[in-house]
Amino acid sequence: MLCKKCMEELTSTNIYPSDHRYCIMCSTEHSTYLSERRQTLTSLREMNLESKIIQTKYLIRRAVMEFGLDKVYISYSGGKDSTVLSHIAKTMYPDILHLFANTTNEYPETIQHIKWEKEENGTNIIVVLPTDAKGNTWTFKKVVDTYGYPMYSKRVSNAIRTYQHALSERTKQNSQDYLDRNFKKYEKYKNLPISDKCCDKLKKEPLRRKAKELGLDCAILGILASESYQREKDWLEYGCNVFHERKDNQSRPLSFWNDEDILEYIDKYNVKIPRLYDMGYSRNGCMYCGFGVHLEPNGQNRYQRLKETHPVQYQYFISNFGNLMIDFEISVA
Ligand code: SF4
Ligand SMILES: [Zn+2]
Repeated sequence: MLCKKCMEELTSTNIYPSDHRYCIMCSTEHSTYLSERRQTLTSLREMNLESKIIQTKYLIRRAVMEFGLDKVYISYSGGKDSTVLSHIAKTMYPDILHLFANTTNEYPETIQHIKWEKEENGTNIIVVLPTDAKGNTWTFKKVVDTYGYPMYSKRVSNAIRTYQHALSERTKQNSQDYLDRNFKKYEKYKNLPISDKCCDKLKKEPLRRKAKELGLDCAILGILASESYQREKDWLEYGCNVFHERKDNQSRPLSFWNDEDILEYIDKYNVKIPRLYDMGYSRNGCMYCGFGVHLEPNGQNRYQRLKETHPVQYQYFISNFGNLMIDFEISVA
């Protein structure tokens, strides 16, 4: 086997003990690089709000300079982070294009907010509906019926889908080993209809297709590195602006912000966000999404909250997916 970085032959004397893909030298260099990046992230996070805004504007400007204003777009979800991003970007480029993927699984308050942004706040938004390459419309229900439910987490759903779709005995065994190693406690759900395809069908593919159709080259995203281990790891490797390095060009100019900065900005600049946040929700993601629901406190998980705040949508959820929730051992009442 060869080191993935320098391509030198890996032997028992030069292989890195905790990562067998690399030689000791490459791994050590990489760890030093990551620890420096970690320090950079800490310093960026220590800046005050005004300095963060300046840095964010600089990163947005870099994206516009690299690709041109007519080739970039704000990937807009209607949530508080992307609304702050939109607010900052619009102070620089009032007509900057926003793409909003309507997953058909949105809270009514999110849809109302998008309407307000578009019709009353003058935001240049295109609403992207989930259709595939042949023009067929997808809905959340159709995705669940066709592929399975997005449940527990993206990684768990992906591991289960991979296990279920293994074509040979060997890949089946590999995916079983992967489940055993990483997701032992989800093993019992491995034959239930669970899959991670939902985001691809309802969000990623339709957005990618629309961006291609409009000739757009770079998405500007309102994501924070603090949101998850995965996002932080990604920032350490790639930073905020990732141009010409991966399949899709991305600018993530809020990466080093935290939740408190977002709230401070909203308060200071009087930014309108969906009413949902006043109803006890801390996220505006998809209504029926199962990612992370098992980690929410019983009695106050998103479905139990939905029952109180959106009885009509809750009824639809129970009639269509109530039985699945019993299998997934998720409380809904
Ligand atoms: S967030 Fe969840 S429900 Fe929404 S598109 Fe992605 S997987 Fe589907
Ligand atoms: Zn090497």
